[in-house]
Amino acid sequence: MRVYRAAVMGSGGVGKSAVTIRFINGEYLEMYDPTNRRQFEVDGTPCLLEILDTAGIDQYLSLNDLFIRDSDGFILVFSLIQRETINEVRAVRESIRRIKNPTGGQVVPMVIIGNKADLVDEREVEPQTAEALAIESGCPYFETSARDNVGILPAFAEIVRQIRQH
Ligand code: GDP
Ligand code: MG
Repeated sequence: MRVYRAAVMGSGGVGKSAVTIRFINGEYLEMYDPTNRRQFEVDGTPCLLEILDTAGIDQYLSLNDLFIRDSDGFILVFSLIQRETINEVRAVRESIRRIKNPTGGQVVPMVIIGNKADLVDEREVEPQTAEALAIESGCPYFETSARDNVGILPAFAEIVRQIRQH
């Protein structure tokens, strides 16, 4: 069975850990196996997906570079209730491209997640803003709620598809 490695990246507080835990355990805000891996089927073929749930970015930029080098695919998370967290997605996306695709020739496996979709009243990011971000990034976009378990599995399945096609 093939093993894929994906890093979850984005600003602090957007829900990287909540999304990861939801994918790994099907639970919200519970303790999880620190190995962060789940076997599941994508398009009928089983695979093992190892998730690197990254912590901060700015302070640990060199560590971040190491994570990027070590990962096959990237899940970039922003919060739908915090517009400015999109800036971090753009910054991380450019770091990833610089490291994984310096000549600009290939597509790097990547998906963007707008999380906390359940917080409808606090929402700051319009669907068209998120779609525009996805188009400029050249990758699929998923709206998720780790709390309500919406959109998580499709996003992780898509990163596996992209890595397979890579
Ligand atoms: P991280 O810093 O990116 O890893 O973010 P965390 O996973 O620690 O989440 C930060 C806060 O947002 C926590 O209080 C979570 O409970 C909350 N949170 C994460 N995902 C969601 C979500 O989908 N909906 C809601 N309402 N809260 C969320
Ligand atoms: Mg976290």
